[in-house]
Order: sequence, then structure tokens, then C-alpha cells
Amino acid sequence: MKSSARSAPTTRGIKRIDLAYVQLATSESARDINRDVVLEIIRSQQPVSRADLARASGLQPSTVSSIVEQLIAEKWVKEGAIERRPRGRHPTLLALNDGLVILTADIRPKQAIVPLVSEPESAINKIISCMKAMRADHSNRSFEGVGISMPGRVDSESQSLILAPNLKWGSYNIKGAFEKEMRLQVELTNAANAALLAELWSGRLDGIRNAVLITVSEGVGGAILANGQIVTSRSGLAGEFGHSPIDPTGPLCGCGQHGCWEVFASSNAALRYYAEICPEKASVTIHELLRLAEEGDPAALAALTRQATWLGRGLRLVTAALAPEVILFAGDITTSWARFGPVIQAELEATMLAGDAPQLGITNDGEFARLRGAAAVVLQRHSGYQRSRLKAAKDKTPYSASS
Ligand SMILES: [Zn+2]
Repeated sequence: MKSSARSAPTTRGIKRIDLAYVQLATSESARDINRDVVLEIIRSQQPVSRADLARASGLQPSTVSSIVEQLIAEKWVKEGAIERRPRGRHPTLLALNDGLVILTADIRPKQAIVPLVSEPESAINKIISCMKAMRADHSNRSFEGVGISMPGRVDSESQSLILAPNLKWGSYNIKGAFEKEMRLQVELTNAANAALLAELWSGRLDGIRNAVLITVSEGVGGAILANGQIVTSRSGLAGEFGHSPIDPTGPLCGCGQHGCWEVFASSNAALRYYAEICPEKASVTIHELLRLAEEGDPAALAALTRQATWLGRGLRLVTAALAPEVILFAGDITTSWARFGPVIQAELEATMLAGDAPQLGITNDGEFARLRGAAAVVLQRHSGYQRSRLKAAKDKTPYSASS
């Protein structure tokens, strides 16, 4: 247990080891944590030998060997090349099994891998038929799960969609529909949390303990990394900065309130600003608007600059609440970051309470961040660590009504 905690600062990409929790862990969950640590080192340093794994993790070689055997049996890891050394033993190197595949979908209010309709059943059936076709095309691979990025908040335990004001799918059982047809493990996750997890897995946030990721599309979403942990909180609702009220006299938001941050700062807001300036050209998409701005169209530039200004102003909510070291943006406006990033930066600096403004940046994966994150959630949930955490949370409810 101690060794997994000790290894965390020196190992690339390990972000999920919570020291406060480790002290409470049973020996069974310690094994799960060690398993996650080993899998994470293989993922980030592959190809890697068992001896290297023991050194990097601080675990006993015998513990590493038994975890590796388990990961090979579960098909997460495979043995590959033999490392050639001038003398001594020639260890077999380990790598993630690239024959193992996770199907992912990024569901958004107006688009997914396939065009979406407002009615959940036929929309999901379209995605399922795409996934089935993909599986048939790659019959030599082992499909381990389905990860779905959602434009809303998902309760990680019940896997139900708690809040998705821009999607309007009601209480439709999305996970059940995928499970019934795909017969695989299915994980739903919030789009912003998926994008943040993708950044963590890529190693680009190495050394950063406190970060906030803001997604900008039809709405404005958020994900929080606090003290090295992704914070989802009760019912997965943490991070909804987009629904903080900025102006109670502002336009009506999808959540039912007036003047939320997202009605001023989302891609839909930019389209509304553009329609106000040029009512005759009101039917453009956000991608067309961004292209017009790149071509120097003054109305498009004005609309997107106004959106960027509001994005920057709203970051006061983020900096005052969480004081992150880094704020990352994902989504539409990041495709013209050189133009609009400085607008956001100036507003961010103007709204700081004290100290330097956090570093501002964009996610590297663009449109793929949510998909990679959805796959990462399936990988993460596959391990016992997450299950142990859920169990520990259930067993320890100090403020429950019955106590
Ligand atoms: Zn709202």
C-alpha cells in the first residue's frame, strides 16, 4: 500500500491515487490500487520489463509478477519483444494489448458520430448500428467495452443521466439500450470529465494538481481536478459552472433559469450575437461562423469576440472557487484560439482576486478528447479500484439520516 503511494510522484500519468483514501484501504483494495498503478506504468512507458515495473512502482518484484499475470489473463496486457542486452537476462517486454478495443461515442445535442435526432431511441439505434458495423469490420479484435461521452451529468454509480438541459432525452435508459444490443460493459460519462481524463492519461497535465477544463459547445460544461483527483461529487453534478447565474435578467437557459454563464458564453450564444448583427444570415452553424471569422468577416469577429469576452469574465467563478493552476478549454472556439484565446486571457487577468492568473490553454486532442476520455473511463472502471472506492463511500456516510 505504502509503495503505491510512494511511487505516485515519480511515475508519469498516475493521478488517481488518493493518499487520504489509501490509508483507509483494506488489503484487498490495496491490491486493486497496485494493479492500477502497474497498468498505468505499462500504459505510459510501454514497452516495459517486469524489472522496470518493480523499480518504477516501488512494488516487490513478486507482487509485480502476479499482477502482470492477472493483466495478461484479462487481456489488458500482452508480452511482446525480447529486450536485447549485452549480457545477463533478456527480459520479455510488456505492452498494452492493442488487439483490445473499446467502442466510443460522443453524443452531443446536435451531432454525434452519426447525425442525431431529438428522440433518444432512434438516435441510439443509429449509434448502435454504427458500432455493430465497426465490430464486424474488426472481427480479429477483442472488444472490451463501450464508452459514451454525454453532454450532461451522469451519476457514476447508477449510470443515469442526471442533468442534460440541451439534450432533452428525459429519463431514457441509455446504458441499458447499449448493453442490451452490444452485450459489453457500458460506461456513460460527462463530456468535460471525459476530456479532462483524456488530458490526464496523455500525461500533458503531469505535475499539475489543480486544473479546470471548460467545454464550449452548445452549452458550457466544466470538469475539476482538485488536489490531483477528478471531482465529480454527489450524483456527478460537480463542475456545472455553465449554469451559474451571471445576470438574472438575461436570456432563458435550457436549465430553466435566466442568465446562466452558458447563455452568454456558449457557441449558441455566439450564433445569437451574430444573428443580432446580421439577421439576414441567421442560419449559419458555429463552424461556418468560425470560418467567416478566419476570413476576416467583421460581424463574425464581433460575435465570437463577444462570446470570448463572456467566457473570460465567467472564469471568475472558477478562479474564486477553485484557484486552479491551469484552465484548459475544449470545443468549438479553440479552433480559432490564436484569435480568441488572448481575449479570454485578458478578461481572466482582469477578474483575478489576487495573485497571478492560472495558465490558460486548450486540449490537444480537439474533437477526439471526449472519445479518448470515454475509452479511458471504461479502462478505469474495469479495475477494482473504482469499485472499492464506491463501496468505501457507501460504507462511510457520516451524515446519513439514520446515524
Ligand atoms: Zn442554466
